[in-house]
Amino acid sequence: RAALERAAALFRAVPDFPAPGVVFQDVTPVLADPAALRAVVEEMIAPYAGRFDAVAGLDARGFLLAGFAAALTDTGVLPLRKAGKLPVTAGHVAYELEYGSAALEASPELAVPGLRVLVLDDVLATGGTLAAAHELIAACGAEVAGSAVVLEVAGLDGRDRVPEALALFAA
Ligand code: IMP
Repeated sequence: RAALERAAALFRAVPDFPAPGVVFQDVTPVLADPAALRAVVEEMIAPYAGRFDAVAGLDARGFLLAGFAAALTDTGVLPLRKAGKLPVTAGHVAYELEYGSAALEASPELAVPGLRVLVLDDVLATGGTLAAAHELIAACGAEVAGSAVVLEVAGLDGRDRVPEALALFAA
């Protein structure tokens, strides 16, 4: 589809962000383009159509994708947030980063037994964040219906940790 090709041309690789030597894959231009945004979100949800009850977005760019996906599918949004941001929490999963560690938390709305949750994020790098999201959903008694990211960073073995995740593009 033309709009997907358009999206592919809109990614921005930013050298030395957030630290020297790191190339940051920036999807912001895709979010700002109406046709590309729609095409990307439709492509992310297509394999899971009719098989999820809610869309979880990962802090923070995943929130934007999840909101759009929920509006398109008449479902609700569940934010999976970095620890300490939610006033009431239903789960807490710590995970390792390249340097240090982090944790994800959910709101009690995720804690519905059997709730089928589609997880969306912008970029898959080491896979630690998405793997933690899956763990959090399971810990809350809900089910992972699927996961999708816009862009997968090749060479970091992130796919090994979340083999079933859909990635629209690779960089
Ligand atoms: P991972 O846990 O190493 O897979 O990193 C993925 C998480 O960090 C996602 O929530 C991304 O938003 C963010 N992230 C890591 N690398 C990048 C990047 O190059 N561009 C944008 N986000 C990134």
